[in-house]
Amino acid sequence: MKSANEQHFGSDPIAVRDSDHFTAEYTKSFAEKWDDLIDWDSRADSEGRFFIDLLKQHGKHKILDAACGTGFHSVRLMREGFDVVSADGAPEMLSIAFDNGRKYGMILRTVQADWRWLNRDVHGKFDAIIVLGNSFTHLFDERDRRKALAEFYAALRHDGILILDQRNYDRIVDKGFSSKHKYYYCGDQVSAEPEHVDEGLARFCYSFPDGSQYHLNMFPLRKDYTRKLMHEVGFQKIDTYGDFQETHREDEPDFYIHVAHKDYHSGDAS
Ligand code: SAM
Repeated sequence: MKSANEQHFGSDPIAVRDSDHFTAEYTKSFAEKWDDLIDWDSRADSEGRFFIDLLKQHGKHKILDAACGTGFHSVRLMREGFDVVSADGAPEMLSIAFDNGRKYGMILRTVQADWRWLNRDVHGKFDAIIVLGNSFTHLFDERDRRKALAEFYAALRHDGILILDQRNYDRIVDKGFSSKHKYYYCGDQVSAEPEHVDEGLARFCYSFPDGSQYHLNMFPLRKDYTRKLMHEVGFQKIDTYGDFQETHREDEPDFYIHVAHKDYHSGDAS
C-alpha cells in the first residue's frame, strides 16, 4: 500500500537496494518539497561561485546538467551565459525544473534521460557534464555505475570534464553520521538524517515542518572507490575537492566534488 506521500518502499524498506527505484522515491509531493529542503538562496550563498568559476577556468561552455533535479544548477549556469541542457530520469523533478526556469524567465531544455542509456536520449557532445547534489549515489549496482560513467565519458568532447559530487560516506559508514548542515541541505526547518547505514545502504529520512517525511535509499559511495571507477572507464586525471575547497582535511568535508578530465597532459599523475 502507498503512504500519503506516495513513496513506496514495501514491508522491508532496507531491503530496497535498486538503481531503478529512484523514480518511485522522487514522487510529485517530494519533488514539490525539494526546494524547501534545499533553499536556493542559501544554497547559492554556501556554494558561492565554485562550479561557475571552475567551468569558466576550464573554458567550458556547453554543459549537460545530467541530474538537474528541480533545476538549481541549470538556472544558475544559464544566468551566467552557459549553454545548458537539463536532463534527469525522474519526470516529476524535470517538470518542476521547467517551472522553476519559467520563474526566472528561462525555458530550460529538458530531456528525460536515465544516465545508463544517456546517449540514446541526449544527443550532441558537451564540454562538461555535471552530476551534482549527491545524485550518483542512486545507483546500487556496480554495473550501472560503470555504464553511467561510460555514457558520461562518451557524451563529452575529447577534452571534456565530468563534475560529480557525493556525500562523505566514508565518515558516515566508519564513524557515524554528523553534519555541519552547512552545504546543500541548508533549510533550518528541514532535517536530513540517516535511519539506517551499512556498507550497501544509507537510508535517509527527510522531515519537513508540516510533519511530512520522505525517504531516499542511497548507496554509500566511498571516495576512493568513485575515483577508481572514474579512472577505470577512461578518465585520465581526477581532482577531488572537499566542500568546495581544494584543500581539505580527509575526515572533515560533508561532500566531495570530483572533477574528472578526459584529457591528460604529460606529467599528470592523479
Ligand atoms: N542535482 C539536483 C540537485 O542538486 O538539487 C538533484 C539532486 S537529487 C538528490 C538526485 C537526482 O538524480 C534526482 O533528480 C533523480 O531523479 C536523479 N537520478 C537518480 N538516478 C538517476 C538515473 N539513473 N538517471 C537519471 N537521473 C537519475
